[in-house]
Amino acid sequence: MALIIQKYGGTSVGSVERIKQVAERVAKFKMLGHQVVVVLSAMSGETNRLIKLAHDVQSQPDARELDVLVSTGEQVTIALLAMALKDLGLKAKSYTGAQVRILTDNAHTKARILNIDEQHLRTDLQAGNVIVVAGFQGVDEHGNITTLGRGGSDTTGVALAAALKADECHIYTDVDGVYTTDPRIVPEARRLKTITFEEMLEMASLGSKVLQIRSVEFAGKYKVKLRVLSSFQDEGEGTLITFEEDDNMEQAIISGIAFNRDEAKITVLGVPDTPGVAYQILGPVADANIDVDMIIQNVGANNTTDFTFTVHRNDYARTLQMLRDMQAKIGAREVIGDDKIAKVSIVGVGMRSHVGIASSMFKSLAEESINIQMISTSEIKISVVIDEKYLELAVRVLHKAFGLEKAA
Ligand code: ADP
Ligand code: ASP
Ligand code: MG
Repeated sequence: MALIIQKYGGTSVGSVERIKQVAERVAKFKMLGHQVVVVLSAMSGETNRLIKLAHDVQSQPDARELDVLVSTGEQVTIALLAMALKDLGLKAKSYTGAQVRILTDNAHTKARILNIDEQHLRTDLQAGNVIVVAGFQGVDEHGNITTLGRGGSDTTGVALAAALKADECHIYTDVDGVYTTDPRIVPEARRLKTITFEEMLEMASLGSKVLQIRSVEFAGKYKVKLRVLSSFQDEGEGTLITFEEDDNMEQAIISGIAFNRDEAKITVLGVPDTPGVAYQILGPVADANIDVDMIIQNVGANNTTDFTFTVHRNDYARTLQMLRDMQAKIGAREVIGDDKIAKVSIVGVGMRSHVGIASSMFKSLAEESINIQMISTSEIKISVVIDEKYLELAVRVLHKAFGLEKAA
């Protein structure tokens, strides 16, 4: 007998039929004698619909009230699944995040899980119940409802697996595993049987939304056995996130390609090339709680330099305005921006032991006349910023250039 956490995403609970199918899959695991905790997302499209409603009422929705609103999506699906399970003759109980007491900090719309009261869940499990928990939500120490950021149900699933010391955590979604890149962009993309935790962390942070990055962080910290599977297929082993590089296998140099259209670029031109200028520019940005991703400072000439950085597209207008307001104080010549950019990244632990990966990447992009605007590297990834209109082409070209469609 094992304790298994199963998380189902929006498409997997997108209709009453789909919810009934989820109930049947859960029943199968129960019949095998396992204990099952299910974590659900809202029906597909529902979270977007709720966010839009909020914007229709208030141009900058109040974060606390937005969380009260968007958390309702998951409350609908957990109740329906519990009913479907009961209809199959199983004992089941639904729980909102607050009812479990998934304690988070108070950072509304992007809260972090601090603690989970798991003792009463164990009691319910021992009494033979299937537990159905609302993903994506928690409660702060004052009882305010919080949400964990888009895709946050993955994190609820993995955090529950860690808290309950579950044997396995299954993430059921609308693809049958983690692919070399998004199969919707590159039909030749190949499912990976395994991916290392480090690579998955990079893929998630660089834009592959198949797993929310915080869920991968939790899996790494608590060594959760995590597998991504399809809820649309009965068979299939999906993709296992591994903690050791398997040295029996022929390790590919590049495991995957991630991309992100959520960023925007800001350039401060002609700033004095003196100590402290980076701080003068980025200090106020950080103070305004705006995350900066890539940063480039050019070599100075004539005692001035140019400074470019990227922020989330949602923060673009605000950041641009802020820097234009500061322009005279910094002594900059001009502040310009571009929100039609995209970031493409190649990821692979094999990069550590191979040289020339960056030049192969740049060559492939050059052959398609794709201009690289910014570059950043770490031990296991290389990212480039390019014009958004070349994104799909770049991903396809790189996928082919690194031979990712071939069987490993
Ligand atoms: P869910 O609603 O089940 O959480 P998501 O839409 O959040 O599903 O994530 C699954 C989607 O992630 C897939 O449909 C796919 O388009 C996208 N995706 C992006 N990168 C990858 C990748 N490398 N492998 C698999 N899917 C990916
Ligand atoms: N329903 C939330 C979202 O759409 C959480 C999730 O699906 O993981 O972001
Ligand atoms: Mg998701």
